[in-house]
Amino acid sequence: MALLLLRIQTMSTETPLDLKKTINLPKTAFAQKANLAQSEPVRLEKWNKLDLYHLIRRACEGRPKFIMHDGPPYANANIHLGTAMNKVLKDFIIKSRTMMGFDTPYVPGYDCHGLPIETHVEKALEKKGKKKNDLNAETFRRICREHAENALKSQTRDFKRLGILGEWDNPYLTMSNHYEAETARMFGRFVERGWVYKGARPVYWCLKDQTALAEAEVEYHQHTSPSVYVKFPLLSDPAEIDPALAGRKVFVLIWTTTPWTLPANLGIAVNPNYEYSAFEHGDEVYIVASDLVEAVAAKCNVGETPPKVLARFPGTKLDRLEARHAWLDRTSLMMMSEFVTLGGEADAETELDVREAEKKPAASKAGTGCVHTASGHGHDDFVISRRYGLEVYCPVDHAGRFTPDVEHFAGQSVFEANDRIVEFMRERGVLLFSEKFDHRYPHCWRCKNPVIFRATPQWFIAMDQVNSDVVEKDEDGRDRSNFTDNLPDTPVRSLRAVAIAETERVKWIPAWGVDRMRNMLKGRPDWCVSRQRVWGVNIPVFYCARCNDAVADRAVIDHVADIFEKESGDAWYTHDAKDLLPEGFTCKGCGAQEWIKESDILDVWFDSGTSSIAVLENRAELRWPADVYLEGGDQFRGWFNSSLMIGIAAHDRAPYDAVITHGWTLDAQGRAMHKSAGNAVEPEKVIKQSGAEIIRLWCASSNYFDDMRASDEILQRVMDGYRKMRNTARFALGNLDGFEPERDSVPVEEMEEIDRWALAELNRVTKEVWAAYEAYEFHNVYRALYAFATVTLSARYFDIIKDRLYTFAPRNKARRSAQTALLQIGDALARMFGPILVFTADEIWENLPGRREESIHLALLPTASDENHDALLAEWERLYAIRDDVLRALEEARVAKRIGSSLEAKVILNASGSAFELLQKHQKDLRYLFIVSQVELGNSDAGAGVSITITDADGTKCERCWNYSTHVGESETYPTVCERCVAALQEIEQE
Ligand SMILES: [Zn+2]
Ligand SMILES: [Zn+2]
Ligand SMILES: [Zn+2]
Repeated sequence: MALLLLRIQTMSTETPLDLKKTINLPKTAFAQKANLAQSEPVRLEKWNKLDLYHLIRRACEGRPKFIMHDGPPYANANIHLGTAMNKVLKDFIIKSRTMMGFDTPYVPGYDCHGLPIETHVEKALEKKGKKKNDLNAETFRRICREHAENALKSQTRDFKRLGILGEWDNPYLTMSNHYEAETARMFGRFVERGWVYKGARPVYWCLKDQTALAEAEVEYHQHTSPSVYVKFPLLSDPAEIDPALAGRKVFVLIWTTTPWTLPANLGIAVNPNYEYSAFEHGDEVYIVASDLVEAVAAKCNVGETPPKVLARFPGTKLDRLEARHAWLDRTSLMMMSEFVTLGGEADAETELDVREAEKKPAASKAGTGCVHTASGHGHDDFVISRRYGLEVYCPVDHAGRFTPDVEHFAGQSVFEANDRIVEFMRERGVLLFSEKFDHRYPHCWRCKNPVIFRATPQWFIAMDQVNSDVVEKDEDGRDRSNFTDNLPDTPVRSLRAVAIAETERVKWIPAWGVDRMRNMLKGRPDWCVSRQRVWGVNIPVFYCARCNDAVADRAVIDHVADIFEKESGDAWYTHDAKDLLPEGFTCKGCGAQEWIKESDILDVWFDSGTSSIAVLENRAELRWPADVYLEGGDQFRGWFNSSLMIGIAAHDRAPYDAVITHGWTLDAQGRAMHKSAGNAVEPEKVIKQSGAEIIRLWCASSNYFDDMRASDEILQRVMDGYRKMRNTARFALGNLDGFEPERDSVPVEEMEEIDRWALAELNRVTKEVWAAYEAYEFHNVYRALYAFATVTLSARYFDIIKDRLYTFAPRNKARRSAQTALLQIGDALARMFGPILVFTADEIWENLPGRREESIHLALLPTASDENHDALLAEWERLYAIRDDVLRALEEARVAKRIGSSLEAKVILNASGSAFELLQKHQKDLRYLFIVSQVELGNSDAGAGVSITITDADGTKCERCWNYSTHVGESETYPTVCERCVAALQEIEQE
């Protein structure tokens, strides 16, 4: 000390330093206030100038590929929060896989064909007083194309604004020439496999839009229908069932909620495994399932109480007996079907036919166990009718009106006819009972009107057609290969069987996806792929003008597809059939050369399902199959399904190895968002006010496997979280001012122990973040980083090292040690935030000292070391537990006004045993740990805990560092500072 004083005295002739200027205040261009709404567009422009996406591509050359295939959003409306969330989650995958060291190109796509655009264009034409039919198909298609182009341009602008990098200049469009050609070719592949047929079978039909609908195009809503109990007189001799019924007037009772389907009745189905009963009502006898006798008698107010049962018999007794239609002169065949059930909850979402519910009467306390069967108006009806050789009968036209052969009701629309049929049956005395019935009923996704099941000639892809010469026979030797109830536990490899096997192989995230997909596949009917519309890819099939033979042939289809490749699918309209066929193409049946083109287009789900082939297989930077698909839960029946079908047709396997499902976006109360309800969070507005980063952080902050809630208040919390993390980064950057990594870094073994502790914590969080990114659990990335930034760093580490960073001489090794840690922390935070906070991470990146890539998006995630830091972490965890107690005691002293700032305090600790040893080992750190001026440690034998006493600090306050010291005043040059500051000032003078 004498020496030191001497030296200070010798220098005292020089002007003493200005104390304020000797404090190392943080300095950085990284602003506290983010101004994201203004700064993001500037950064986007910079990325654009850099052509960042392609810089990344070049940087990734030669790395293993990781392919996330984009499900195409529909190119119609502007994006909403759900669309934004979907794309942001995909961007998290792309960017995190890139930073993990994969080559992860992103080719976005747009779904451009289909009904919503047609409807939109029709409405626009109506406003101009024009009709669709006033235009030729080419013109109408051109307007649709323009509409899709405009919509996808504005969507692209919005997606780019969200910070999503990708092939935006060259996305895939289902309406591009190449894509349309590939779609047609894929239809040819199905044809080649023998999976395509044209047939009349019931499909969902929208009366307003006058087109067939796919499974994924109907949604279920409450609907009120008439529920009726109707008598069908038995024509066969009732003695055949039971001698007790000989000579009686016997009726089979059916129940239905679709009276309009009764004119199409051809049969009645009963379950062969159930018992049925005949009970008396006056001179009439009614047949219903035994379990339902009492319920039916009570509901219809018939029979005695209790009902007098004349005979009980198994359902099989009724097989192939004949009833007469309730009012028409036509027989109704009694058939056996396992589809007929008496119980079980009818699940409207998975049912294929609303009339399914009628077969589960116990759930609705309605029904008779005898099911009215109309082959043209129900899936199960169709299957069972076919097995019994009944025709497919559908006396309802495309507008939903009865055809002329329907007596009494010809020309009436089916929904209007419902009540009239009920009245008609009442007058005829065939109606036992009717009431209103509320149930979930399928509606058109587009126009929201109730739909019907209607058999029309359509093109189908057979789910159970066997792809070989093997013809499967059932026990009776009948060919079952075409039956849709031929479930895939058979060894035969039908489309359904392969699809289910592939579903089991694919990894579903969350894991319940496998059940959902399997159930959907087990229950789905043949895929109806034809639509009676214009805006799409035409089904490339020709009919012979003379003999009407259809030509569906892969070679012919490929020929047409080559023309689409050059001229787009419009060629179907701009050319005659003969110009689309190979030259001199002749009908094999009759030798004619005149052809008629099929007028139907393909289901848009066939279009989008083709994407794995049209895009993954056709672009050099991609590959088939994809590693992962990510979409909402509505895509099990939609894109996940159609993509799987097409993958199997092309390559006998799924086009994806993993499928991730995200939830819906809901408001804070868990309700769906609607503009009209005023609860919609609009991405555009959020971006304008707070920046795209806030939407991205919101996507990462909640678990997307569940539904995601958003509201102004929720977003406010996200912004608070953002500010905290930004401040953490800013502290690191501010204290790295002047730090040159190559010159100033301290080797890890020479670092202060608390700095090594901070790096050990960083290593731990890095492992956590890697694992979370790997598992696509972005909410766990957020959670880990948020806790690290706010607790580990802000509340602990930064608080403790502030004194060292601010008051030590700039080049002091202890200060350099902290800075070395800060640089690693700042660098790692930028990388780990990189995939989520794409703008902020890049901004952190460019404010870090040292040479580095031009953008964070060219960098990799930090790698965690395998070194074991457990002992270090555990030791410091114990110190922090003591610190928490000390901080609490200091807070109490402050509240009691015994101290002002914590630096005015001295902490006296008394501990014994291992606690004492721990504190003794870190004695010189304790004052910094507690942010007090002095700590006294005593070894007492009193108990296991640590006793804490707070008193006033000794000495006087140092003007420079505000710590109290008994040595203030010992320096003549700097009479107002403490001994630590004197030493620091001396160092500074020498620098
Ligand atoms: Zn509709
Ligand atoms: Zn012919
Ligand atoms: Zn001081």
